[in-house]
Amino acid sequence: MPAQSMDELVALCKRRGFIFQSSEIYGGLQGVYDYGPLGVELKNNLKAAWWRAMVYERDDVEGLDAAILTNTKVLHYSGHEATFTDPLVDCRSCKSRWRADHLTEPKCPSCGSTDLTDPRPFNLMFKTAVGPVDDGASKAYLRPETAQAIFVNFKHVLDATSRKLPFGIAQIGKAFRNEITPRNFIFRVREFEQMELEFFVQPGTDEEWHQRWVESRVAWWHAQGIRPEALELLHVPADELAHYSKATVDLMYRFPHGLEELEGIANRTDFDLGSHSRQQQELGLSAEVIDNRESNTRLAVQDLDTKSWFVPYVIEPSAGVDRGVLAVLNEAYRKETLDNGSERTVLGLKPHLAPIKVAVMPLKRNHEGIMAKAKAIKQALQALGLGRILFEETGNIGKGYRRHDEVGTPLCVTVDFQTIEDDDTVTVRDRDSMAQERVAVTDLASYVSEKLR
Ligand code: ATP
Repeated sequence: MPAQSMDELVALCKRRGFIFQSSEIYGGLQGVYDYGPLGVELKNNLKAAWWRAMVYERDDVEGLDAAILTNTKVLHYSGHEATFTDPLVDCRSCKSRWRADHLTEPKCPSCGSTDLTDPRPFNLMFKTAVGPVDDGASKAYLRPETAQAIFVNFKHVLDATSRKLPFGIAQIGKAFRNEITPRNFIFRVREFEQMELEFFVQPGTDEEWHQRWVESRVAWWHAQGIRPEALELLHVPADELAHYSKATVDLMYRFPHGLEELEGIANRTDFDLGSHSRQQQELGLSAEVIDNRESNTRLAVQDLDTKSWFVPYVIEPSAGVDRGVLAVLNEAYRKETLDNGSERTVLGLKPHLAPIKVAVMPLKRNHEGIMAKAKAIKQALQALGLGRILFEETGNIGKGYRRHDEVGTPLCVTVDFQTIEDDDTVTVRDRDSMAQERVAVTDLASYVSEKLR
């Protein structure tokens, strides 16, 4: 069973060092969070799993890591300056602000007043000034999605790699949105990370590729430990589609606060490449394409048979890293009552996501031989490249097990007197079954590698 409430997860995250409110000692900064020692490992592991699946295990995707600061023209021609807005209403009584489309009734959720302003569009992009002079010309945006940097680098990647359609460009990185009401812990924040793939295809094959990507992304989330029954597909109704989308399927996950979007998979057609390209008319693009005379790059490919140029269509699976972290934490969280009546909290994370793979614990802190052996084992396991191996000097093995159950460490290795005085074996304790096995130190590397696979 997943966590019963968001509060349980928030408390665990703070207590064990996964996630902290940002700038907390100065009262915090709303909608901004920091990842602690275990949070950074979990987040990196999730991103690495995505990168492996998207880039390494495929033969048709290249990677990119573009800048966050973005030329305003990029976000002008992408349509974000004009349309990347949410409807904002003010409560005239208590001065609080709300997203009109999130209100279930025409009433202020804070004070109950019905004296609300009419909704007005509020642009979510953060602006900043680049360089020492803060005039209009120095304005830049913090990117609101990673996607645009992929589109404006399309030709560079194409030229550098000689890719032919279909192929994709993958990117993981920060995005910023000045959300009107950030809430639900790391679900809706103002600074977050996205894992986005832009997969370029021949027009006409786009619907089939869209379907394929939906299936592939659902399977990936299952492999991260999300139960099939906790994930639902939502075909976004036509009147709610983003300005660039012909069709979008949202992967909706049962978060502790309700069923909400974890990832969106959109058919962005030729909207973005078309918008950024100067030759739209010559290329016969549709009239909705924003007129762009300031970028002189043709973001198109040539049909090898007919020699005519066309703008590829693009399918975009776009997932939130932070929402992903929240989902896998929620799925992994469970409380168990043991035979002796005591309770334990366990994070049953998949081994590849676990922040710590193995905790190596010396039975006695002040025993030189045991300490030296435990340190040597830690180093040897670390060298396997499986992820973080922790040398855990608790001195209290029972407490160490509980602590590691709670943070999702799949295996604990205890070095005791028998190890150094007798047969060179250690105790390996399994997080989920709590079974303990005696394993020869010489077999430990292969035993651990097998268990974590
Ligand atoms: P929502 O409707 O929940 O605001 P969205 O449809 O605007 O989300 P997209 O623009 O499709 O989101 O962004 C792709 C992904 O980025 C989302 O599925 C989500 O996982 C993540 N994301 C978007 N906005 C936020 C945010 N404010 N905080 C955390 N993650 C976000």
